[in-house]
Amino acid sequence: MFHGITKRWMLNTLSVIFTIIVLIVVSLIFVVTYVFQNTVEQSLVSAANELSLVFSGYESNSSSEFTSAARDYVENFDQKEKMGVMVINGTGRVVMTSTGFLPNSSEKPADFEEAKNSPDGSALWSGKLDSGESAMSETRVITTPNGAVVGAIRYIVSMEPINSRILIADIIIVAIGMIMLTLVVISGLLFIRSIVKPIRRLSETAAQIAQGDFSASENIEHKYDDEIGDLCDAISDMAKDLQTTEQMKNDFISRVSHELRTPLTAIKGWAETMQLSERGTLDRRTFDRGMNVIIKESTRLTGIVEELLDFGRIQSGRMVLVNEKIDIIAEFDETVYMLKERAVEEGKHLLYDEVEAIYPPVYGDRNRLRQVFLNILDNALKYTPKGGVVAAQVLYTKDDPDVIRIVVTDSGCGISPEDLPHVKEKFYKANQKVGGSGIGLAVADEIMNLHHGSLDIESGEGVGTTVTLTFPVYKEGQETTRTENIKL
Ligand code: ADP
Repeated sequence: MFHGITKRWMLNTLSVIFTIIVLIVVSLIFVVTYVFQNTVEQSLVSAANELSLVFSGYESNSSSEFTSAARDYVENFDQKEKMGVMVINGTGRVVMTSTGFLPNSSEKPADFEEAKNSPDGSALWSGKLDSGESAMSETRVITTPNGAVVGAIRYIVSMEPINSRILIADIIIVAIGMIMLTLVVISGLLFIRSIVKPIRRLSETAAQIAQGDFSASENIEHKYDDEIGDLCDAISDMAKDLQTTEQMKNDFISRVSHELRTPLTAIKGWAETMQLSERGTLDRRTFDRGMNVIIKESTRLTGIVEELLDFGRIQSGRMVLVNEKIDIIAEFDETVYMLKERAVEEGKHLLYDEVEAIYPPVYGDRNRLRQVFLNILDNALKYTPKGGVVAAQVLYTKDDPDVIRIVVTDSGCGISPEDLPHVKEKFYKANQKVGGSGIGLAVADEIMNLHHGSLDIESGEGVGTTVTLTFPVYKEGQETTRTENIKL
């Protein structure tokens, strides 16, 4: 019937509360019984104490004198309403009672002997009378100054009304205990319901989200301002993020397909055209142009495929760096040199002052770092319009001897402040008008992280972009071959 959190609560909390309540109820029952019985006992004892005052200095040994003195006492006894008084003679027989009713002559109160033998001359008794009635009695012997027992007075109270009062009190205590337990169970179940119900609904929603139904997150109600509320928010946010990623991934696939199709179309077109030249219908200049396009587009294709492969490697943590001591400036020089011609072709100014000084080496993977330079310079050229400027600079100062910085600034379209924090994320493209898969910066950033360096971007919309690559310089003993895997 009960399972999950409810069952756990039943076993862990409710069982403890139940035990505590039972213990309290049992203790209270004991206390009540004790208090009631003690009150009766006290009243018997105090009545008996008065007796010693009345009979103090009693000197006669005569049984009949004792009987008449005791009669006086019984007649004047002022608590007849509360208890009965019996006069017992020296042989232990009841000779008079306050009710006037004398018990069977053979009946001797059991506690008379006990009182006689006890040092203080008294005995408390509780039990059942021959009539079956519960009673309690206190017996006090009367002695002469020389120690002879002349008789005894016995005070007796019926316990029947007291016992029924104890019973009523016990019933009330048990009822209160049960009411408390019921309240605990009801409030506990309500509280648990307030936790279990939203959690159950959340887990159903999470299952729907897992199956790709992101709109299910709209049904999440933020009812409580507590941990459950936080969980609702976290799942809603997660669904939104998943939806965005899913959307970006789909865009990515269609973009990449498009990126691959464009060079393939060019290659196919020119290959078909050149096929004709074999039959002597194509002049040399057109043939060369076609060949150039085919080579350029194949290189572009290789670049795209390489980028995708790297992305796949990084995703699965298989990217391995082959580190060595390298002259980072030389690598950068070569990359800039490679792009010079393209910049001229595109009518853009690629400015770079080659560094004459010798800078300290960097410990890293030559090919991967070239890839980063290529990506940054390619972006700078790609997002800068014709006539724009791309300026590259290497910075190393004695004030900051532990790092070498490469700064690439362009006068291109720039990145809006909303897009800037996201451009390093995988699949993120701020500028949809220009081609590209949207993973170049993500890969470059991770390669820089693997080198314990950083890739920082500053940009203003319409102003241009500055990318700063920071490398830690080589430190003695850094060679211990390091292969590092990362996940984007
Ligand atoms: P893409 O393949 O789209 O260039 P990247 O990961 O290299 O992907 O870059 C992510 C996004 O960052 C780009 O879509 C572009 O919007 C923006 N971006 C990167 N570099 C520049 C730059 N130099 N100028 C303007 N925007 C840039």
